[in-house]
Amino acid sequence: MAKIGIREILRKDPIWLCATCYACTEICPQGVKVTDVLRLIKNLAAEEGVFPDFYQTLTTNILQVGWANTISAFTLRKRGVKGLPPLPKTKLDDIKTLAEASGLTTITK
Ligand code: SF4
Repeated sequence: MAKIGIREILRKDPIWLCATCYACTEICPQGVKVTDVLRLIKNLAAEEGVFPDFYQTLTTNILQVGWANTISAFTLRKRGVKGLPPLPKTKLDDIKTLAEASGLTTITK
């Protein structure tokens, strides 16, 4: 579908199931770089604002707190109880700069 320009592929959920493990690329007898094709398709879909809500949540979290997942006060206290060191401070200015340079900030629903 991608090769013949059917843009409907951008709206297919299975493209988001690829874990980018490269197993298919490693074994493809025709040398098709399937993983790279899927990555390109996902990038095109994201540019059109078509991506699972989950990714929007991750993006929002990264831009707001610097982590893909929010970390609760409970978890932070629990880390202390377990003797784990405090989490390093995130450099939100650096993240914002990277997000702007990569176009991440323009890809929102
Ligand atoms: S890289 Fe290939 S084998 Fe790995 S998850 Fe994606 S499509 Fe599947």
